[in-house]
Amino acid sequence: MGTNFERYRVKAGTKVDLGKEPTRGDDAYGGDKDAGYARLDALRDEIAELQDRLYAEEKHKVLIVLQAMDTAGKDSTIRDVFKETNPQGVRVASFGRPTDEELAHDYLWRVHKYTPAAGHIRVFNRSHYEDVLVVRVNELVPEDRWKRRYGHIRDFERLLVDEGTTIRKFFLHISKDEQRERLQERLDIKEKHWKFESGDLRVRERWDDYMAAYADAIKETSTVDAPWYIIPSDRRWYRKLAVAEIVLETLKDLDPKYPDPPDNLHHIAIPD
Ligand code: ADP
Repeated sequence: MGTNFERYRVKAGTKVDLGKEPTRGDDAYGGDKDAGYARLDALRDEIAELQDRLYAEEKHKVLIVLQAMDTAGKDSTIRDVFKETNPQGVRVASFGRPTDEELAHDYLWRVHKYTPAAGHIRVFNRSHYEDVLVVRVNELVPEDRWKRRYGHIRDFERLLVDEGTTIRKFFLHISKDEQRERLQERLDIKEKHWKFESGDLRVRERWDDYMAAYADAIKETSTVDAPWYIIPSDRRWYRKLAVAEIVLETLKDLDPKYPDPPDNLHHIAIPD
């Protein structure tokens, strides 16, 4: 049987110690990878069906935020959770280093325009949280400035929620050992060479600083309506399964419905 994935939700106001949060989740399906993947297959179909309704109904907006250290699996989570959905209604926005134009504005400027429209699911591959993570660790702005951003982010997400957006945020939590293995794979396997970036090693050197930044960011911004989930991600199947289960529950709660037909369709005959 499955497990209660809601337990990975960070309750508003609780302290976060990432050193104590599991990176290896293996109690679902008795830790059986094949059973996990079979369940994931079924979840994907259910997610796709609800997404079709959501798109047709044009009522709800869904924002999924993914944050993680390098190699934790943001890309493959997006691919494998949303594989069966219709790309017309599910879009991904990836946030890399800001351009000069973006830097000339406030840090939420580039983010707001990618928030989901009615009927859409938007996945943020990295997000405005980089502005309290990489920006903090590398001291790109002074401390008093990034510290005020937690408040801005809470207010920004509150605005989105008040205007009809459902927000779920996922931190894909891997151990430093697991990251070493995955980075090593990128060096060893030819098909993975393209994923290797030497800059990732510099980020890895600052691991503890990133963990501290993530812990504060999650604690400061996990709210009732825009919660964070800390997903154990050392095992790939478990990570995808956990995210898929939570996404599915979220969509089920929204209960999207196909809209009523505009007219009594029985009276309409299609002309030859
Ligand atoms: P990914 O690592 O997500 O696959 P990239 O290799 O394009 O994607 O890396 C994106 C990089 O951009 C990351 O190193 C990230 O920390 C950085 N980045 C994202 N947002 C910001 C920001 N606001 N300020 C500075 N750097 C940022």
